[in-house]
Amino acid sequence: MSQPLLGCIADDFTGGTDLASMLVRGGMRTLQVIGVPTGPIDADVDAVVIALKTRTLPAEQAVQESLAALAWLKAAGCRQYFFKYCSTFDSTAQGNIGPVADALLDALGAPFVLACPAFPENQRTLFNGHLFVGDTLLSESGMRHHPLTSMTDANLVRVLQQQTPHTVSLVRHAAVSCGADAVRQAFAQVQADGARYAIVDAISNADLQVIGEAASEHLLITGGSGVALGLPDNFKRAGLLPEADCAADLEPVEGLTAVLSGSCSVATNGQVAHWRDSGRPALSLDPLRLADGDDLVGEALRWAQPLLADGPVLIYASAPPDSVKAVQARLGVEAAGALVERALSHIAVGLRELGVNTFVVAGGETSGAVVKALGVEALRIGASIAPGVPWTLGQGPGRVALALKSGNFGGPDFFTRALELAP
Ligand code: ADP
Repeated sequence: MSQPLLGCIADDFTGGTDLASMLVRGGMRTLQVIGVPTGPIDADVDAVVIALKTRTLPAEQAVQESLAALAWLKAAGCRQYFFKYCSTFDSTAQGNIGPVADALLDALGAPFVLACPAFPENQRTLFNGHLFVGDTLLSESGMRHHPLTSMTDANLVRVLQQQTPHTVSLVRHAAVSCGADAVRQAFAQVQADGARYAIVDAISNADLQVIGEAASEHLLITGGSGVALGLPDNFKRAGLLPEADCAADLEPVEGLTAVLSGSCSVATNGQVAHWRDSGRPALSLDPLRLADGDDLVGEALRWAQPLLADGPVLIYASAPPDSVKAVQARLGVEAAGALVERALSHIAVGLRELGVNTFVVAGGETSGAVVKALGVEALRIGASIAPGVPWTLGQGPGRVALALKSGNFGGPDFFTRALELAP
């Protein structure tokens, strides 16, 4: 592996993909790794994103996993590090943003770090240290009711201060609007006043560019994917990253194609209906028959085999809310989920043996299960199909192109649109 410039640690999988897409957009060839790799990885990239699942773990465990990720990235030779959390600063009462950032700073021997979850393109703006979701303060948004990470205070200086024994300060928009030098000076000032952290205001992409530029010499940056917007340009200015933009190019994949869907979200149900309505081949899996022990995996593969040569097929467990509720009442929510995930994973492996090497997968948990079953440990990130959903090329046994879509992403024609853009 060539030495990557930027090493990133994301506290969840889709957040990792979001960040990776942002870096690709800026011209950095990016690899997303699922969990901390056990050994070196053979890939020629400018950035690596290690996607963890640490957002809601006990703080101590989140710290240990994040430190393991950092150790791997250091060994890979990265020059700068990025800790990615959610644009709504999702954290529990114990952390984990503060504890993880503190541990990373200690491990890097770095004195200071900025914190900026703002992502104006997605309606997350930060002003006077207060985070807004659209026109609403974070504490008045839907996030106040989140089952795992309820956010009841929009003042991020206060929120982060509760997660660290070190001083948290604020760099206001007045400084950001004056450009990178003003922000650098503001960083120096708050640091001289004893702060280890600065929450930084941002209400536009231009602000994020300025903040990124001001942090060019910082060893660690923390934030949402928005604040990564300005980082590729730093490497270009330093002559470390070429201007030519081929970061999203993935090697072409020749072979058969299938769509697997285990998401029951409104958007996905619409996408399944759109596919069926356009007369394309589709097969529905009945979880109750799975529970009865019927060999639906074998049935699905026998159904798909003669059709695949003529074009992509869809195999889905997606169903409307009433039907899902009825299944869950019979089998239990978790058992039903696990049963369907297992079936779709086995179908993916079977399809792979039939020559399918391009998959569109709908559902966050479903995607996780399919990726694992296919033995994919890392993904090269390609061009975006819809915001937040890129084509990816799985690294691992054989070459497989994957579009992994969590629940509510994409318009009604997402499946066909994805296939048109496939590498
Ligand atoms: P999303 O991203 O939309 O939340 P996920 O894949 O993360 O989708 O979650 C959907 C869950 O629902 C999975 O565990 C899946 O196995 C399960 N599931 C899929 N179809 C059905 C169904 N018909 N009845 C019950 N559970 C289902």
